[in-house]
Parts: sequence; structure tokens; C-alpha cells
Amino acid sequence: MAEGLHRVVIVGAGFGGLEAVNHLKGAPVEITVIDQRNHHIFQPLLYQVATASLATSEIAWPIRQLMRGRPEVTTLLAEVVGVDQEARQVRLRDGASVPYDTLLLATGARHAYFGHDEWEPYAPGLKTIEDATTIRRRILMAFEEAEMETDSKAQDALLAFVIVGAGPTGVELAGTIAELARDTLPPDFRNIDTHKARVVLIEAGPRVLAGYPEDLTDYTKRSLEELGVEVELGAAVTECTAEGVIYGGKTLAARTIVWAAGVRASPAAEWLGVPADRNGRIIIQPDLTIPGHPEIFAIGDTVTLPGPNGKPVPGIAPAAKQAGIYVARAIRARLEGGPAPGQFQYRHQGSLAQIGKRKAVIDFGWIKLRGAIAWWIWGIAHIYFLIGVRTRLSVALNWLWIHARNQRSARLITQGSDSQSDSSGGRTAS
Ligand SMILES: Cc1cc2nc3c(=O)[nH]c(=O)nc-3n(C[C@H](O)[C@H](O)[C@H](O)COP(=O)(O)OP(=O)(O)OC[C@H]3O[C@@H](n4cnc5c(N)ncnc54)[C@H](O)[C@@H]3O)c2cc1C
Repeated sequence: MAEGLHRVVIVGAGFGGLEAVNHLKGAPVEITVIDQRNHHIFQPLLYQVATASLATSEIAWPIRQLMRGRPEVTTLLAEVVGVDQEARQVRLRDGASVPYDTLLLATGARHAYFGHDEWEPYAPGLKTIEDATTIRRRILMAFEEAEMETDSKAQDALLAFVIVGAGPTGVELAGTIAELARDTLPPDFRNIDTHKARVVLIEAGPRVLAGYPEDLTDYTKRSLEELGVEVELGAAVTECTAEGVIYGGKTLAARTIVWAAGVRASPAAEWLGVPADRNGRIIIQPDLTIPGHPEIFAIGDTVTLPGPNGKPVPGIAPAAKQAGIYVARAIRARLEGGPAPGQFQYRHQGSLAQIGKRKAVIDFGWIKLRGAIAWWIWGIAHIYFLIGVRTRLSVALNWLWIHARNQRSARLITQGSDSQSDSSGGRTAS
């Protein structure tokens, strides 16, 4: 690397961090990208790995490979545990430090259990490849165990699948698990009728897809029910155990529970000692820097700031990407002596959610779509945003195969023992 170039350190190669790297191409900087994982994940399709529709390699790419054509970018596989603002260094778990002139924190968020972290072993959330393969294993193992179970009550519990939280991820998981049980698995089992599997979607609020217009949420609920999903609204989960859940005063015996409710930001606010909201997100300034430190930017799911309608900018991929582009422009302007880009302005491009393999809902603001047409747009949009021709072709082919033949190619139980009393950390993905 050239001596004396401005050092930009980007922590997190998710949607926001990668977009910043892309838009710093050609700038007079040397960049260090630090991530605790060696791969970038396309999180919107994680539920398809969890439900055996796609393979892990179709939604994740090695960060180092993505940086191959960028000699000014150094990639470090390391966990950041703190920031020394005076010395301008980030601290790594192994004790090493990485110096910066400009720092960008894009460390995202993880699921949260509203103060009940003890539920995690029984109700894994969906954020990483390991989470997705853990959930896939549990879903597929439940059918396998049910096939061998002779006690009918135990069999019912094995064939009960609970999803907590009816946001887009909960809706997508519920619809796809129902289709797995109804369309994909029936011909392959001899002792159980997989049509009898119960998929129960539990939501504390009064609606599914709370952020969507009411007619789309009504349509989504009806569509899920047509797929056989039991939608339980206005019922908060008060207990998750190895036996099942308690919600709204009712007990449901279920061996598979998936958590799709609540997020908590990465600890970036703690590293910096700056104010955060109740979900741990940095309350960031309109130029995406932290107070008193114009050299430190933070973006994406780890921050909060008001959007154009007064509501917080949503924790979605386009928001993180737009912020990444903004930060790249701001850094370029400072180095090249151009005008600063003004305040960050988030532009909402639309909200999309899939309901099973033939329907989706889309709210572009100026137009609302639902049904098959929405599904095609949803599919094309997601394929467009994947990285690389091979992945796009592979995902498109997989989806066509699921459509036409009801076959899901990633129906593999690949992890070792995954006892629900274990913590979910430290498992290996495949
Ligand atoms: C299951 C699921 C489905 C979703 N579906 C959609 C959707 O359909 N549409 C949509 O727009 N958005 C969706 N989202 C939200 C979207 O993925 C996020 O808003 C987006 O990823 C945020 O980008 P980010 O750059 O802030 O963080 P992320 O993309 O999460 O990236 C954070 C990166 O930081 C790294 N990191 C974290 N902590 C450290 C550390 N201490 N040291 C080093 N590295 C660290 C992580 O490994 C990760 O690579 C979904 C999210 C999930 C979990």
C-alpha cells in the first residue's frame, strides 16, 4: 500500500459497510475492512436457507473474494471489541489494535428476547448462516423424529412449528414451513401425514406486517391461513421452553420454535460511550457522525435517526446501503476539498414480503401490489440484488424447481447434535 494515504477502517461487511467500500473505489484512501465473519450475507433470503429452499452458498459470499479486485482494501477476519477514540484505534478481541483516520461502524444488529435471553436455546433467531442451518436442522429433525414416534401426543408436539413475531421474516418463515409440510414432504414419509403439521404464527400486536397498509396485512393474514398457518394476534409469548410456548395464557406443546421478534443493535454505542435508544442503537447525528468526532461515522442497523416522515429510518438493507453511499461521498468530499454532502436523506423505495411460493405483498407508496404479480416482482428484485451471475442463475433455477416440482434442494441435515439445552453459539454451519 502507498505510504501516507488516508486510512479508512470499516467495521462490518454487511449491506452498509460493503456499499461504502464500493463507493470509495478510486478515492485516495487505504481501506481496512474488519468483520467477525469471513462472509457477507444476503439476510433477506436467510429464511430460505432455514426452510431448505436455498443452500448457504447461494446467499453468502467470502468478503475476501468480493475485495479481490481492490488492492487498496485489506480484509481482516476479526472481532472488534472497542474503540480508543483518543488514539484513533479500534481494538480487536485478540488484543491487537488497528489505527484509523476515519472510522465507519456498520456492525448491524442481532435478535433480542426482551430480557429473556434464556429462551434463545429453545427459540433460535435468524441472523447468521449458523442460525439458518440450526433452524433448518430442527425443522427437518422434527419430521424425522415424528416419523419414528409412536406416542401421538409426542408426535403432535414434533409436528407443531411456532414462529414468534409476524413481521416480514415471521410471515415468510411461516408460509414456507407450511408449504414444506403440505407440498414438499408428503410423498417422502410413510408413518406420518405431514399435512397435519401445525404452523402457528404468534404476534403480540394486532396485525401481521405491522408497517404495511391495512389492506395488505389483511390479505397476508388470509393468504397465510389459506396455506394452513394458524395466525394468533394480540398474544404475547410469556415463556419458551424445550416443551413449547405459553402465549396469551395458552400453552402449546411444540418442539420447534423460531424467534422472529425484536432486535438489539451491536454494542457500538457502548464502544463509543454515546447515547443510544432502548434497542441499543446509536442516536446518530444527521451527517451520520457521532458528537464531537467528525472522523467517526456509524450507519445501518446499529444506529437510529429520524426519517423524512418523522419516523425512524427503518432497519432495512436499502437504508444501510444509502447510508454507506453517503459516508463514501462525505469522505471523498473531505479528502478532495469538495462541498460536504449535507444531511443524510433516506429515500424509502418500498416494502416487500413473500407469502409462500406464489404470493407476495409490495408497498411502493405510490402503488400497492399483491398476489402473483407481486411475487414475480419480489423474485426479480431479490435476484437482481444477489451478487454474481452464478448465484442469480442458481437461485432462479431453484425457485422455478420449487414452483414446478415442489422440490427443495437444500433439505440436508448437516450439523451434529443440536440439543435444545445447548447454547446456540459455537455450532458449525454447512
Ligand atoms: C432474517 C432477516 C431478514 C431480513 N429481510 C430483509 C428484507 O427482506 N429486506 C430488507 O431490506 N432488509 C431485510 N433485513 C434487514 C437487513 O438485512 C438489515 O437492515 C441490513 O443487513 C443492515 O445492514 P448493516 O450493514 O447495518 O448490518 P449487517 O448487514 O447486519 O452487517 C453487519 C456486519 O457487521 C459484522 N459485525 C458485527 N459486529 C462485529 C464486531 N464486533 N466485529 C466485527 N464485525 C462485526 C457482522 O458480522 C456483519 O457482517 C432482514 C434482516 C434479517 C435478519
